[in-house]
Amino acid sequence: MEFIKEELSNLKQKNLYRQLKTMNAAQSSRTMVNDKECILLSSNNYLGLTEHPELKAAAKEAVDLWGTGSGGSRLITGNMRLHEELEETIARFKGTEAAIVFNTGYMANMGAITALVGRGDIIFSDELNHASIIDGCRLSQAKTIIYPHKDTGVLEKLLQQNRSYRRIYIITDGVFSMDGDLAPLPRLVELAEKYNAWLMVDDAHATGVMGHRGSGTAEHFGLESRIPIQIGTLSKAIGSAGGFVAGSYDLIDYLRNKARSFIYSTALPPSEIAVALAAFRVLRTNPQIRESLHLNAHYLRSGLKKIGFTILTEESPVIPVLIGDASKAVQMAQQLLSLGVFAPGIRPPTVPPGMSRLRVAVMATHTRDDLDKALAAFSQAGKETGVM
Ligand SMILES: *Cc1c(COP(=O)(O)O)cnc(C)c1O
Repeated sequence: MEFIKEELSNLKQKNLYRQLKTMNAAQSSRTMVNDKECILLSSNNYLGLTEHPELKAAAKEAVDLWGTGSGGSRLITGNMRLHEELEETIARFKGTEAAIVFNTGYMANMGAITALVGRGDIIFSDELNHASIIDGCRLSQAKTIIYPHKDTGVLEKLLQQNRSYRRIYIITDGVFSMDGDLAPLPRLVELAEKYNAWLMVDDAHATGVMGHRGSGTAEHFGLESRIPIQIGTLSKAIGSAGGFVAGSYDLIDYLRNKARSFIYSTALPPSEIAVALAAFRVLRTNPQIRESLHLNAHYLRSGLKKIGFTILTEESPVIPVLIGDASKAVQMAQQLLSLGVFAPGIRPPTVPPGMSRLRVAVMATHTRDDLDKALAAFSQAGKETGVM
């Protein structure tokens, strides 16, 4: 077991060692991190729905009516009426014929990719795609070509050079998790149609966030009917847990029969499903929650730029604040935490060397006062750590 100790000390030397932080309160705009009260600027709970009274009530009611666990996989005994209702709701939300719920977004990607793609096929995958897409590609055993981030020029050349495969897939995040930028979907759709490729978009960070109804990047670009495989998660803005694939009736029927992460895992508990159903209700009836999110993102971004920080992209509520050096990013995050702001440093291997950053994410529930206090802390921490 010597290698474990060695690797751990190796990580520590390179400033890449990670430790858990303990959240001592609910995932709200202000919370307790390691016993310190702070403004939470890093949650994927973008809409603050994990604390919404309707979602909480739905969880409690579901426990009373349906119990605590589902007791089996979907295809055996775990398929409750709630699961089906949620899938119908997601299909309506996404504007597709059907949808299938997985236990996590990670499992949705793994399950869908390995069921749809195999030997003899080729995948074109954006270099900044999420780890669950990367792992799905690896497990699929298809040839995978990583194309430079959002570079549709290079992608088209690669598509031209690789036309002899059985099936061709282009897979991309909708909103990139660490950079907050959007995939160039209009061009990707054109390329997919021109080269007879299947386009798969993972909208984990866009679900509930992007588009007029919050249904994601396809809606944002007006391309709902032209993206055949749409992935999402219920664990970020939706405030519950789970993942999904939305698409044609046949696609979903196929995944129910073929996706191993769907077949061989116990169905989500009824409370989580009821919470997701309540979240979709809230999204429909309170569109102003999503508006607050985007107003807050705009306010915080403008403030950070005024102080002098470099914001890498400005397309979503994910605000990547470039620091550069990994150890500086850690110092900055520590300093912010001591000033009552939680915005974690993101380092290699999650991002390329020299591109370490603070991944700042606003929530719809932050008040102006929260954001002003956060900006003051950024200004002070920036000076104290020599970042600015
Ligand atoms: C978070 C995330 C996932 C995983 O979703 P979970 O529900 O957390 O498992 C998948 N893809 C992307 C792009 C993500 O950001």
